[in-house]
Amino acid sequence: MLAYRLKGKDRAAFEEVPKPRAQPGEVVIAIHANGLCRSDIHHLHGTTPGERSTMGHEGAGVVEALGEGVEGLNVGDRVVVNYVNPDGSCPMCRRGREDVCERLPLGFGTDGVFAEALAIPARNVAVLPEAVPFDEGAILGCAGATAYRATSRSDLRPGMSCMIIGLGGVGMQAVAIAKLFGASPLVAVDVRDAKLALAKRLGADLLVNAAKEDPVAVARSLGDGRGVDVAFEYIGLAKTLNQAIEATRWGGRTMMVGIPPGKIEFDAQAFNLGAKTLMATQGHTNQDLREVIDLRARGLLRTAETITHHLPFREIDKGIEILESQKGDPVRIALHH
Ligand SMILES: [Zn+2]
Ligand SMILES: [Zn+2]
Repeated sequence: MLAYRLKGKDRAAFEEVPKPRAQPGEVVIAIHANGLCRSDIHHLHGTTPGERSTMGHEGAGVVEALGEGVEGLNVGDRVVVNYVNPDGSCPMCRRGREDVCERLPLGFGTDGVFAEALAIPARNVAVLPEAVPFDEGAILGCAGATAYRATSRSDLRPGMSCMIIGLGGVGMQAVAIAKLFGASPLVAVDVRDAKLALAKRLGADLLVNAAKEDPVAVARSLGDGRGVDVAFEYIGLAKTLNQAIEATRWGGRTMMVGIPPGKIEFDAQAFNLGAKTLMATQGHTNQDLREVIDLRARGLLRTAETITHHLPFREIDKGIEILESQKGDPVRIALHH
């Protein structure tokens, strides 16, 4: 079968590889759609650890084969892959924190979903109802579930003010989710007007083009003038993380989801005197994934609009080029098999 594999730093290509077989407890999924994510590009350029292996972590498809002992799934079931691929047995998994499982996630050093098929433990797929297309399912498996977990853990409650910085695939989905959680006002920040316009359609009340306006000043102009209750950082830059922290009020919370390149300086004194909270979150649990799929299946969450580009699987190189150049303001790029 065909797989898109990392060949070294900055190099990836299609390669013919043996089709995986289901080991006991595993299922083989015939992949129907993938999402192309910025973290795939970070991985390609060697900024996340990884060995030569099949790339890709956002995928949805159909169960093609069942390994020994698999229950509750049938051949032909539509499913989304949970790329976090928790083992269910390490110390943190046993405490319910599958999001920080010790096992390497799929597509970042172990064989991922940019392939015609994938073998994965049956516990790490979520059933995808007929109402949700495969491409949206693939995107829910990363952007949707990551943003859903970050929002759940942020303590965002109805009526709280909220700022979301960075409207890529995850940040854009986060806007729709924050709206569902009752954020008000909901402020979306980016440097591309096309992305801000999409955020408005997904429920943002206020748009800030950070190339023209200071998001911190905007945050402090809202309500009682003391900043937002919750800020989300979905880029991973020193500047935007500082903006997020400074945009929050005393006692406010910043959720760091974008992956920073390394050390970041911030005003620790102001942070301390304001008794603020900074929390990082990565990945998600199987339960998060099931919940976010359910929200979409019931028509409560909008995901289709976050897919700005559709390409055949074999044109993945073109997708990477679009995502890197930002030509045509891509949010999420779906690959169809
Ligand atoms: Zn992703
Ligand atoms: Zn684990």
